[in-house]
Amino acid sequence: MRKRIQLILLCISAVSMALFSGCEQHEHSYVPDVTQPTCVDQGFTTYTCECGDSYVADYVEATGQHTYGEWEPTTPASCTQAGENTRYCTGTNCSAFETEPVPMLEHVYLPEVYNPTCTARGYTKYICSCNDSYIEEDYQTPKAMHDFNPSTRVCSSCNKHVDDVDYAKYTSGTSAFYLVQQTTSNYDFYVFGSGSIPYPSNLSNFYNVRKYIERAWMSDNITHLPSNGGLFAYFSSLESVRLSETLTELNTNAFNSCYNLKSVTIPSSVTTMYGSPFYGCSVLEKVIISDVESWCNITFASASSNPLYYASHLYLNDEEITELVIPESVTEIKDYTFINGSFTSLDFSGNVTSIGDSAFKGCSALQDVTIPSSLISFGDSAFTVATTYR
Ligand SMILES: [Zn+2]
Ligand SMILES: [Zn+2]
Ligand SMILES: [Zn+2]
Ligand SMILES: [Zn+2]
Repeated sequence: MRKRIQLILLCISAVSMALFSGCEQHEHSYVPDVTQPTCVDQGFTTYTCECGDSYVADYVEATGQHTYGEWEPTTPASCTQAGENTRYCTGTNCSAFETEPVPMLEHVYLPEVYNPTCTARGYTKYICSCNDSYIEEDYQTPKAMHDFNPSTRVCSSCNKHVDDVDYAKYTSGTSAFYLVQQTTSNYDFYVFGSGSIPYPSNLSNFYNVRKYIERAWMSDNITHLPSNGGLFAYFSSLESVRLSETLTELNTNAFNSCYNLKSVTIPSSVTTMYGSPFYGCSVLEKVIISDVESWCNITFASASSNPLYYASHLYLNDEEITELVIPESVTEIKDYTFINGSFTSLDFSGNVTSIGDSAFKGCSALQDVTIPSSLISFGDSAFTVATTYR
């Protein structure tokens, strides 16, 4: 037993002598390594000696200065609700974040057009995706005209008989004239009949009211306007007119002094215009036809019998005719047919044998007119511009 203790003591002293002798020859030389503070963690310096000995000192307070990333929408704003953005600190070990409110968005309204009917005005409804909507009261369009069947006189849209919507009515034989009040200050004028119709001088208050008529409509089956008065004369508010598709002539004063009439559609049934049906239509700028052949078929008594004399712009349905092509079937271009037209080119089909007086007079935009070799007769002042022969 004693021997064993002696042995242990011997060993301890040997180890401690060895340690003591090593340190005696080395002075620590510490190299500092600075760890910067972050927003949440202290900074410090680690001093390390090449022998491996080290210690930590020089603690510095955490900065508390968070470094935030980009704002991210956490609750997107809409037109019904405010939103919220969030941004997070990018520092290690840090869970700090900030939020900011995002104001509610404006509504985005898209227009939805509701066309008028004969019983309700048209309007545009502005609707947002959130279903919020509004209607601009001031911009409602007028009610549509009724669409009366010429025989039954019942409207195909509202099923009302014209007698149930009338404001004033005058009947003579098979003809009937109605004034339908559209708003407090304007009227629609409906004419029914067949063949020739009389002038509605006995229609209640007609002479006073006619200047407030904005729209006029004629049923089919009428062939002749009244011979004893211009049916639409002095309709100084007239904006649109629907002529009977069976009408064969437009006579003197038919539209005299319709100061507001910008366009007129001539049915292809019309074959004669005489006098000055559009005298005083100072803003007339559009003559609408449905085929050029029928237009070439009309006999105009004088230059001013032709509405083109005032309007200059000839339309084939919705499209203005700028490059006029005379159809193959047309052999005769009558007097005044295209007077004052604003055509830029003219192409004869080759079958035209005669061109009437002043047929193209005043067509000053025409260039390079080539006269067809088929031509036999050529009227006075047919052209304003120079022409060459093929
Ligand atoms: Zn050391
Ligand atoms: Zn932080
Ligand atoms: Zn909305
Ligand atoms: Zn109706």
